[in-house]
Formats: sequence, structure tokens, C-alpha cells
Amino acid sequence: MTVTPLGLTRPASVTGEFLRQLVARVPGSAGTTWPLTEVYTGETLVELPQSTPSDIEEAFATARAAQRKWAATPLKRRLAVFKRAHALFVDRARTTADLIQVESGKNRRMAIEETCDPAMVMSHYLKRAAKLLAPVRRGGPVPLLTTSTEIRQPKGVVGIIAPWNFPFATGISDAVPALMAGNAVVLKPDNKTALSPLHGIRMLEEAGLPDGLFQVVCGEGPDVGPTLIDHADYVMFTGSTATGKVIGERAGRNLIGCCLELGGKNPMIVLPDANLGEAVQGAVFGAFGNTGQICMHVERIYLPESRYDEFKAAFVAKAAALDVRAAYDFGPDMGSLVSVDHMRRVKEHVDDAVAKGATVLCGGKPRPDLGPAFFEPTILEGVTKDMLCGVTETFGPVVALHRYGTVDEAVALANDTDYGLNASVWGGDVGAACAVAARLESGNVNVNDILATAFAAKGTPSGGVKNSGVGARHGDQGLLKYTDVQNLAVLKKQVMGPRPGQSYEKYVDGMLSGLKLMRKLRVR
Ligand code: NAD
Repeated sequence: MTVTPLGLTRPASVTGEFLRQLVARVPGSAGTTWPLTEVYTGETLVELPQSTPSDIEEAFATARAAQRKWAATPLKRRLAVFKRAHALFVDRARTTADLIQVESGKNRRMAIEETCDPAMVMSHYLKRAAKLLAPVRRGGPVPLLTTSTEIRQPKGVVGIIAPWNFPFATGISDAVPALMAGNAVVLKPDNKTALSPLHGIRMLEEAGLPDGLFQVVCGEGPDVGPTLIDHADYVMFTGSTATGKVIGERAGRNLIGCCLELGGKNPMIVLPDANLGEAVQGAVFGAFGNTGQICMHVERIYLPESRYDEFKAAFVAKAAALDVRAAYDFGPDMGSLVSVDHMRRVKEHVDDAVAKGATVLCGGKPRPDLGPAFFEPTILEGVTKDMLCGVTETFGPVVALHRYGTVDEAVALANDTDYGLNASVWGGDVGAACAVAARLESGNVNVNDILATAFAAKGTPSGGVKNSGVGARHGDQGLLKYTDVQNLAVLKKQVMGPRPGQSYEKYVDGMLSGLKLMRKLRVR
């Protein structure tokens, strides 16, 4: 147990020795390091090696060699690794949460929830992978004489670039289906949050994942990104829309596929018949859960005139009463932002809104007394599109309330954004709420929930539309995207072309009649 200068008791698992062991696998041949800090105190926890382009090339070479053997390993044996890993991930959830908390500053309730995500993804694909990866025999062009079989081949080495807000979930969960499908992975986590994914990889290896198959390289994005993308066979990226465009361009130039899971400016529509108590509780989680740093969280709330004042009073009272502080126990409702830089960005959004006429109903200020990157849960009114937080993602505990007159108006306001990641609709008549949901330009829509119902439904693809992304995680495509299709076609006997002595005219007559017959018989 370590007691920090602020009097915080740091989790017993977070020892210098443990952290040094975790980062030891990150290549850094130039000897440069990055001070990875505890968010609550700003204290350096460990020096994280920074990978050079040649370190990254070597990581890919090692991964590629391991991948060939892994792809040749029977699927059943590959999947057995994840059965064992599932148990380890659940048994060690508390240690994982310790690491997530020290490196991200989020509260413990969110950290422990995050630990569950890779286990849920493993559980889903353990049920589904064998079916998805099995060869599918399709008919060939000529019945009986030909066959065509759809075979799923692994892409090779998948590059994963992950953000800091859910470092364990995005670093490990997106790797799981790639590995199950027979790929190797080279992961680049954010420098700030490399510890929890490194811990996840150790657990996977303890469960039997072969050495070398899962590589980690670290560094600032623009330094590491180009070499990583240039050596990858596919890129899985989670992060901001601005970076997503850079990644997508480079992947396009290299003619490799990519999945881009990007930002949002997510709306919540409360319909007149909504259960207000539940909607307010939902809004508290949607706006302030993970300190507002969830890609699917809520930044805009649309309320009917008739219920605006009632909602506002209850929401402001709940937000003002939240327990915000640094602690490694389950007490606080909200923790810190991830860094001082990010806190300044959030503050800039609020200050800009206030300068342009918005009203602060609650919060609005940094809280250096709680820790270097704390910011109050903040509710604004009067936010317009000429304000930073009126159009771009704030990604902090800041939310704006808006009134609407008609449901058509609410839908138009919700859709008036370049983003399309997540939305939520609250209403007593679920059918009517679903009809509103269908009109929203959003990859995910939750009815009477903020985000968890959609995100935890691992069988359904989840991704963004518009500027919120390309492709999806989860669902069948969440695994199949890491494969190439091989069309294995077999001709049992050569039958194409005229028979000996047959004129080409006769052959063509026969072929065209055959086409008609096959259509009639619905053979082809
Ligand atoms: P970011 O785009 O700044 O960074 C994400 C990752 O990309 C980091 O590892 C970073 O080092 C790396 N990176 C940065 N520039 C790069 C470059 N030029 N080449 C290669 N890699 C580069 O995003 P962030 O601030 O770390 O994360 C927050 C953003 O992520 C928010 O916009 C949030 O909405 C989004 N996000 C989206 C999802 C989703 O599923 N849609 C999930 C989590 C977070």
C-alpha cells in the first residue's frame, strides 16, 4: 500500500516493480521514455519506453512469424486460450481496475465496469467464432460439376490504435476477435494509458496465447502511426474524428482495410410521456459517467417545453449533489479528467460558451483542490451553434439543455450535427419512441437508456455514421472484418466450350437455354 502526498491510498497492486515488469515488453531501442503518471496526483509511476520506427518494424516481423503458426493452429485450440483467459480476466478484475484508475483517473465504478468488456466480447465470440470461420459451401456456376466455397483467411497482422478513455476495453476487446480469427496484433495504446492493456496481454499469454503474437509499441501518435499503418494488413482505430481521417487516408493509400470508431456529439431526446425520474437518472450517467469521457455519452439534451423546468430542476439538483473526488474505492460518483491538457480543453469549451451568452446552471469550473485535472459536472443552457461546445465534441462532464416544440423539431435538432455515433430517446410509449429512434441519423440509438444496452449487446454491430466512423465492432462483422474471403472454386470436369464437332452457334443455343432452365428450376 502506498500513501501518496495528497493522502490517497494507492492500490496495493500498483507497485513500482509490477509496473516496470508490465512496460518491459515495450521496445524502445533509442532509450527515450515517457513519464506515465498517476492522474490523481500527477506523480510519475513508471517510465514508458518509446518505440522507434525500426522497433515497430521488428515488432511486425516477430508478430508475422508467430501469426503463421497461430493461423495453422486448429480453431478449437485457439479458442481454448480465450476460455481460460475469460476466467483470468474476471478473477483479476480488481487489479485491472487498479491500473485503469491510476492511469486514467476515472472513478472505480467505471473502472470495474470497463474490466468486464473484454470478458463479454470473449464470451460472445467463443459462441460465434466457429460458425463464422467455418467454410461455407456455395453452389458453383454449373450444378453438380462445380463448387465454390467461401473460406475465411486471417488478414495477417492487425494494427490497433487505441485511445485513453477506455484503454483496456479498446486495447484488448478489439484484439480478441482478430486473434480468434488467426491474426497477430500490434497494439499502440495511448502513452497515458498503456498499463491496463499491457496487463491484459499478460493475462492472455498466461492463458496460452503464443509469445510474439501480441506486440505493443508506444509513442506519440504521429511518430508511431505511419510506420504502424505501413506494416499492417488492417487497421482498427478508435479515437477522434480528426485523427481517424489521417488514419483512413493512409490506410486507403496502402490499399488496406480499416475500421474507424470516432467521436460523437450525442443527443438525448426526452418525449413528453417519458418517465422523468428515469430520464434524469439516465442523463446524470450519460453526461457525467466516466467524467463525460465516453464516446457514446450525452452532450445535448432536448426537452419538450411542457417538461423543461421540471427536468432542469431535478437534473441540476442531482448533478450538484454528485460526490466528485479522487479515491480508489467505490465511493465517488465521478473522478478526474484524464489530464491537465484535456481539462484545459474542457474549460475552454465552457468559457467560450459563457462568453457567447450561455448560462451555467451548475458547475463550470476546474477543481484543483481535488486534483490537477478535476472539473465540475457542468450543465449549460442557451448553447448555440456559434459556440465550440455547440458543434464539436467536448468530451468532458459538460451538457447543454435545449427546448423543443414538436417531435419533428426535436428530430431535426438531434440530426443537426456532423456526427452520428449514439443517441437516446426516452418515452413511455416504447413503440412511439422507437419510431422517433428510426428517424435519427445515428449508428446506435438506445430507447430508455443512454448507451449500455446498445454497447453491451455484443451480437449486434456497433459503429458510427457520418463523421463518427466507418465500419463497426461487435456482431458478425466485428470478427469477419479481420478476415479476407477466399473463393475456392472447383471444376470437376471441363465442360465449357463446344463439344467436338458442335458448331459455336449450337453451343451458344444450348448455353442460353441452359441459363433459362436453371432460372426456371431456381438452380442458379
Ligand atoms: P486521438 O484521436 O487523439 O487519439 C487516439 C489514439 O490515436 C491515441 O493512441 C493517439 O496516440 C493516436 N494518434 C494520434 N494521432 C495519431 C496519428 N497521426 N497517427 C496514428 N495514431 C495517432 O483521440 P483521444 O483524444 O485519445 O480519444 C478521445 C476520442 O476518441 C474522442 O473523440 C472519443 O469520442 C473517441 N472515441 C471513440 C470511440 C468509439 O467507439 N467510437 C470509443 C472511444 C473513444
